[in-house]
Amino acid sequence: MPLELKVPVHTDHNELSESSFDALKQQSLDARNLSYSPYSNFRVGACLLTESGQYIQGANVENASYGATICAERSAITRAIMMGHRKFKALAISTDLTTVASPCGICRQFIREFGPELPIYMVTDGGEWVKMYLNELLPLSFGPEDLGKHTG
Ligand SMILES: [Zn+2]
Repeated sequence: MPLELKVPVHTDHNELSESSFDALKQQSLDARNLSYSPYSNFRVGACLLTESGQYIQGANVENASYGATICAERSAITRAIMMGHRKFKALAISTDLTTVASPCGICRQFIREFGPELPIYMVTDGGEWVKMYLNELLPLSFGPEDLGKHTG
């Protein structure tokens, strides 16, 4: 008999106003249209809400050399960092699935650098969602503090 997994899933979006949450979710869904995914046809959109209130979209960008592919989460964060942002309020991730998809392991570590406690909303094609915090997706994580560095 399989074990029942207890995964902490939050059903609130307390850190965001209704309008901010709606915008974040919609922009992550819309970002799927920016996906370059001719090999997998698995479109992923992301949207990062910065501390200053900007919405920054990302999408997966695949490559003929498959390992060179970058995920939506990392493309959004990279874009935000290049725009000078360092602090974030939330991240939303959308796919074309009717179930939620969670960030891959590489992305969890990448997100961790700038948001060890970042709320991450995983959104279905139909707009349903679940929230988990980065530190729940990546417990006992390694980060800048372990090197005596601060990201701020
Ligand atoms: Zn990823």
